[in-house]
Parts: sequence; structure tokens; C-alpha cells
Amino acid sequence: MRALTNVLPCLLLLLCGPTQSIAANLPDRQVAITIDDLPAGSNLLPAAAVTKMTAKLLDTLRDQKIPVVGFVNERKLYHFGEVDERIKALQMWLEHGFELGNHTYSHSSLNQVGLKAWEDDAVQGESVTRLLLSQHNMKLRYFRHPFLDTGRDLQTRRDAEAFLVARGYRIAPVTLDAWDWIYATVYEDAKRRNDNCSTAAAPPRLSFLQ
Ligand SMILES: [Zn+2]
Repeated sequence: MRALTNVLPCLLLLLCGPTQSIAANLPDRQVAITIDDLPAGSNLLPAAAVTKMTAKLLDTLRDQKIPVVGFVNERKLYHFGEVDERIKALQMWLEHGFELGNHTYSHSSLNQVGLKAWEDDAVQGESVTRLLLSQHNMKLRYFRHPFLDTGRDLQTRRDAEAFLVARGYRIAPVTLDAWDWIYATVYEDAKRRNDNCSTAAAPPRLSFLQ
């Protein structure tokens, strides 16, 4: 499971979603699991490694019958010589029976870049994902705010929501953030230094699911 450590920076839980019971003693509470920053949180990861880890992650989720929505930053597809393989990693999500949503093209913060630039980033983030979904007779319907930033003031927030609704989106809020992404940087740094001890010590991402 440790091999998943470097894959996806944000494992987010959405309470009251349409999925599974957390535990037997909480029978009426449910979570929807979402994973952000696809195809991979790390820009340093070669496409082959992205493919390998995506397969491992998705096989596990499918075997465990865990429904998941993955949120895409399409800018992460555009690595020289790797575009096709990175798009294929997204396709794997759909082939495994999961769904993809929009997380903007470049992961821009609505709180930082302003409404117009953020809207442009959201639109730019649709093209490949929408095409892939259409091949599975699915529509692009979920949006996740990068950094969970929903606007610095109420008016911006309302304008952004109206924009998303007009484009057919349902906003995917977060009620539990595993903060698992924080280990990716530590893991990468240790790996770069060939520090096998530290990379081995990095906890499995899914250990936060409790
Ligand atoms: Zn993100």
C-alpha cells in the first residue's frame, strides 16, 4: 500500500454522500470518497509510475467496492512525450467504473486569482475530461474547488456558484480532509535523496480512512 503514497495528494471524504457506512456502530452515517489532483499529485512522477500506481489504487478501490469520484487538473496531462499515457491514466478511472470531475485546469485558487481568471481555469479544465466521460455516456457534473477556496467574500462565492450551476455542475463539498497529501512532498524529498529509511516510514495514504 505504501506504493500509493506518492500518487494522489488529496483524499477527501464527503459526509452524507451516497456511499458506504463508516462502521457497524454508525449504521446511518455514510461517506463519499473523492480523490483530487488527478492524474497524479506529483508533477515529478513519470507517466509509467502514474499508470502503475493508478492501476494499483483503482484495483483496490474496485475490489473493495468503494465508489469514488476523482477530480482532474488537466494541466497535469501536458508533460512532453507523456500526454497520451497520462490521458490513459484518466481513462483507467472510467474503465474501472469510477467517475471524474473538474478541479480546474491549473488548480487555481478562487481566493487568489479572482473570479474571471478562475472561471476561465474551470472552463479550460473541462475539455479532455468531458471527452473521456462522453465515451462512457457520462456527463461532467461534479466540481471541486482547488484548495477548497470558495471565494473571499459572499458575493464572489455566490457568483462562482451561479457560474458552476449554469455550466451544469454540482459542487462537491468536503466535510473531512485526510491531509494525506502532506506526505507526498516528504516522500518525494526522501526518495530524491535515496533515503530509503524515510520513504519506508511514510505512512500509507489509506491509513487515514478511519
Ligand atoms: Zn486539489
